[in-house]
Amino acid sequence: MKEFNPWAATDIKDYDKLIDEFGISKLNSDLVKKLNDNKYVRRGLIIGHRDLELFLNYAESGKKISVISGIKPTGIFHLGSRTTAEQMIYFQKKFSNSELYYSIADLEAYMDNGQDLITSKKLAIENVADMLALGMDPSRSVVYMQSSALLVSDLAFIFSDDVTVNMLQDIYGERRFSLYLSALVQSGDILLPQTKNFGGPKPVLVPVGADQDPHIRLSRDLAFKHRNDFGFFPPSSVYHKLIRSLSGDEKMSKRNPDSMITLSDSKADLKRKIMAAFTGGRTTIEEQRKLGGEPDKCPVFDLYLYFEDNDKEIGEVRAECLAGKRLCGECKQQALKMVGSNLEEHQLKRTKMKDLAGDIIQKGNELVKNMSL
Ligand code: SF4
Repeated sequence: MKEFNPWAATDIKDYDKLIDEFGISKLNSDLVKKLNDNKYVRRGLIIGHRDLELFLNYAESGKKISVISGIKPTGIFHLGSRTTAEQMIYFQKKFSNSELYYSIADLEAYMDNGQDLITSKKLAIENVADMLALGMDPSRSVVYMQSSALLVSDLAFIFSDDVTVNMLQDIYGERRFSLYLSALVQSGDILLPQTKNFGGPKPVLVPVGADQDPHIRLSRDLAFKHRNDFGFFPPSSVYHKLIRSLSGDEKMSKRNPDSMITLSDSKADLKRKIMAAFTGGRTTIEEQRKLGGEPDKCPVFDLYLYFEDNDKEIGEVRAECLAGKRLCGECKQQALKMVGSNLEEHQLKRTKMKDLAGDIIQKGNELVKNMSL
């Protein structure tokens, strides 16, 4: 696995290999203990980090820190985008000295998907309404569209002097130059909170899916190269597992809408998708009773990991599956009920958040527009 394409629907089969090959650190027992109130950590869904200790040391000492991530606004939130959002919000809530930065990558949507900026703005309001419904604190958040943040493009321009096409090819493989450019703009997003008008150098944490590590490596390299002029700290990161699609074989992705759950799915959509999902079940009932199912291969079991709050309940589902005491039909019905009630509650909250979402983006755009390096 020499290079990695963060713009494609990637299926990571071996996380240990990814960790070894790219020098990601696993969460040690001290970190797991510190972050034990995070269900993604407890359930092994966070697979690693870079420099998380540095971020936590500053966070715990009460010094200013930032949490930054973003979204390409080409659709409604799905479970993958929800996971990134929940990680950001977790760290924002855990540390009152933190500020959250959320970049809406409309320039990347234009370059990678040919989507115009007006459509991106409409979808951004939907995405930010989801963030608010999930618990983002708007009083400690800066949300902006990349196209409004000239200083992010300025940073990309400065960074372009530090890279060659060969270096970018080593990280990303051979891609269109627009994607290399959008990677430099993303590095601008990641390092923005450390520029002087946003409070100067400070540790920043980037929660992302494991397939986004190339952007972190590039940003850390650029931060290192600019440690003297900007004083940048290398950004820290935490990586979560990619969510399997309901068809079982690739990550849940906007590019394959029928095999992913979105936060806007209706009850009928959910029913259709979950009841048609691939499972870790056996070919016949008799076999399942005799051999048990395979929850670790099962996207329906994943739904319990992502939606069920009670760890004990998840343990019971797993044990019953392995022992052949549970059949996939009834298990899907239970999952449908659980996901359905979660999404119903979320959708009620998010409809009330749309005006606020629009205001927050407007405010963030004004802020970044009026800042210079
Ligand atoms: Fe998956 Fe449930 Fe079937 Fe087990 S019983 S394989 S967890 S659907």
